Amino acid sequence: MNSYKVSRSLFGEEHQVFRKSVRRFIAEEITPNHDRWEKEGQVSRELWLRAGEQGFLCSSVPEEYGGVGADFLYSTILLEEMAYANATGPGFHLHSEIVTPYILHYGTEEQKKKWLPKMIRGECITAIAMTEPGAGSDLQGIKTTAIKDGNEYCINGQKVFITNGQMADLVIVACKTDPAQGAKGMSLMIVERNDEGFERGRNLDKIGFHAQDTSELFFENVRVPTFNRLGEEGYGFVQLIEQLPQERLIVAVRCIAQIEAALNWTVDYTNGRKAFGKPLSGFQNTRFKLAEIQAELAVQRVFVDKCIELLLDGKLDAVTGAIAKMKTSEFMCQALDDCLQMHGGYGFMAEYPIAKAWADNRYARIAGGSTEIMKEIIGRDLTGQR
Ligand SMILES: Cc1cc2nc3c(=O)[nH]c(=O)nc-3n(C[C@H](O)[C@H](O)[C@H](O)COP(=O)(O)OP(=O)(O)OC[C@H]3O[C@@H](n4cnc5c(N)ncnc54)[C@H](O)[C@@H]3O)c2cc1C
Repeated sequence: MNSYKVSRSLFGEEHQVFRKSVRRFIAEEITPNHDRWEKEGQVSRELWLRAGEQGFLCSSVPEEYGGVGADFLYSTILLEEMAYANATGPGFHLHSEIVTPYILHYGTEEQKKKWLPKMIRGECITAIAMTEPGAGSDLQGIKTTAIKDGNEYCINGQKVFITNGQMADLVIVACKTDPAQGAKGMSLMIVERNDEGFERGRNLDKIGFHAQDTSELFFENVRVPTFNRLGEEGYGFVQLIEQLPQERLIVAVRCIAQIEAALNWTVDYTNGRKAFGKPLSGFQNTRFKLAEIQAELAVQRVFVDKCIELLLDGKLDAVTGAIAKMKTSEFMCQALDDCLQMHGGYGFMAEYPIAKAWADNRYARIAGGSTEIMKEIIGRDLTGQR
């Protein structure tokens, strides 16, 4: 029983219909295969094609490029349902909600027509490569270069921790086109699977996300036509900064759904398991812990839903996005740890969803801008300090 009554006002009838079809897709196409993909280190290409057939990829793309022109609420539903199902392997969110907006916002007509239809169908899987072994939080410090040579750029460098790294057919690569210029010398280049000199390194061995092909990428004298530059030369850093609020909201949406799922698993578990002659939920400590999670979840969900509204109105700013990501990811990690604790030893067993969620979601305090970087964004804005 859960009598909490602050209902969400974001979704209409059509969204509920969409949610049902997403839930069915996950139950039929993802959940039965996820364990196998975890052992194989990546999901199947067929899954991407199936998701494309169902219209679940790049749903924000307008009809003229083969999409359905749906709003961010549809993406929200997909993110939430994937979190409820602990489906961390498919990198759909990165492809649809992070890479696609770059091509939509900064691509030329020719670029959009060339790549978006294949991305929508799941025939072209994408990634975005910013982080390098020597530069993560400090993006201005990247060393990968793209030096202009006639009608081409010559790309040299290395990237690490790249989501969809093994499967990607198209990678947006953050490069220095003018290494002497710092942030103003950065541009975004598109590199494709078969470009000569583009090699994939290891599918990295992680503590979680075992079905996600997070990888190293290497670029050695990769020559791409100037056609492959996304937007103006020297505007790469500005483009990255412009897209970050949406990327951070995506993490926040996922965190809230993950906490909700963990809370439900833990209520069921503590009602069912007995110790000292009564259910675990019969102990005040268990009820207090569950109540704390429920109360914080209720408050944070309202804030995140407000951020979704702001994004829909084109008004989500960097500071608000940073607050959403920081608060939800910090709370999620605490809540998952508390929920695991309430499962006792079973919480440490991989077959229990709480164990997988605990390991998989630790990334959220680091990736997409760490908690410390979120605090910098918020604190600098407050004080005016640089
Ligand atoms: C699962 C996963 C998927 C990822 N996917 C992608 C991807 O698809 N594409 C991509 O480009 N990257 C990806 N990343 C990389 C991710 O964005 C970086 O790991 C992140 O930005 C942090 O960079 P770093 O690892 O180099 O850590 P560092 O920048 O070296 O930071 C190390 C520590 O120092 C702290 N720190 C750094 N600077 C400051 C400061 N100014 N003040 C206070 N503390 C500071 C950080 O908060 C952190 O705690 C992924 C990472 C993971 C774990």
